[in-house]
Amino acid sequence: MTTIATVPPGPRVRPDLAAVPRYVPGRPAAAPATGGPASGAAWKISSNENPYPPLPSVLEAVARAAASANRYPDITSARLTAALAEHHDMPADRIVVGCGSVSLLGQVAEAVVAPGDEVVYAWRSFESYPIVTGVAGGTAVPVPLTADGRHDLDAMAAAVTRRTRLVFICTPNNPTGPAVHRGELERFLDRVPPDVLVVLDEAYREFVREPDVPDGVALHREHPNVASFRTFSKAYGLAGLRVGYAVAHPDIADALRATASPFAVSTIAQEAALASLEAEAELADRVDALVAERARVVSVLADQGWSVPDAQGNFVWLPLGAGAVPFAEHCLRHGLSVRPFAGDGVRCTIAEPDANDRFLEMTRSWRDLG
Ligand code: PMP
Repeated sequence: MTTIATVPPGPRVRPDLAAVPRYVPGRPAAAPATGGPASGAAWKISSNENPYPPLPSVLEAVARAAASANRYPDITSARLTAALAEHHDMPADRIVVGCGSVSLLGQVAEAVVAPGDEVVYAWRSFESYPIVTGVAGGTAVPVPLTADGRHDLDAMAAAVTRRTRLVFICTPNNPTGPAVHRGELERFLDRVPPDVLVVLDEAYREFVREPDVPDGVALHREHPNVASFRTFSKAYGLAGLRVGYAVAHPDIADALRATASPFAVSTIAQEAALASLEAEAELADRVDALVAERARVVSVLADQGWSVPDAQGNFVWLPLGAGAVPFAEHCLRHGLSVRPFAGDGVRCTIAEPDANDRFLEMTRSWRDLG
């Protein structure tokens, strides 16, 4: 009899996959035990989600689209692509819709990285970069962030070699928060050969309020080797529907289509994204509310004595080092799930005011615990 304990080895997989990290999702909200320190309410601030549910107009579009779920979606997302082309005043052949921008990150690595080619990115940054690099068989070249959680673009330019095919720049940087500035990015682009693709991962672009932060789509007009990756998951609040897009040179856009899973973007996702573009003003108000909450949280953290990197996304970073996991456990005991990176820090999403209040109670009580 074959039991779980005695399963014989299965068919072989690529040995190098063993070294590829697995994506770690944020923990769901876990209500603390009744009678515990904070019985009842629980919040999830571990995945940089938008706390607001879809607008009624978006839900209507979703319901309408669900009625044709027996049909395959439009493989090209033509209407959404056209709407995005108009939105950005960009030819449609430069726009590729994908199953979340995380899927486009994988597609771009498949498209430009051959085994042994190098991929440069800052570290710590978005956890997908080492994954998509490893899956494509590329060699990761992580470049440490500066002490204040920023990209070190001079060091990244120095790390580019003849083997470099791809650079990821996460702006604002997940998980630390700062966005790259225009001057340093221009200097970086001057040093990078034009046949190296520079992906600006702008998943949190809509939350940026610092004026000196360049817009990746605008930059693409002047630098054809720059691509901007955007998502409907964060500011537009559609994380569960999986839709993002790339703005890139037509050759790169074509390659992204070549490496896509066919039909990966559902009709429901396409229609919800279209309805969200139409409701943009209303959604922008929600983003403004989250940005105001971010300012409140950052200011209370400063009053409590915390020093955190410049927060330009919908999250803040607590550089707790060895205290990261213990702080996350402290939060969990009080009904709050945050995203710890062991030995490094904790990323906490700006959410609804009640969740932010609980977060600020946690940072205060952690300080008091010494
Ligand atoms: N880029 C960054 C920097 C992110 O933080 C995320 C989501 N955590 C993504 C891309 C992926 O977003 P999605 O696949 O939901 O579009």
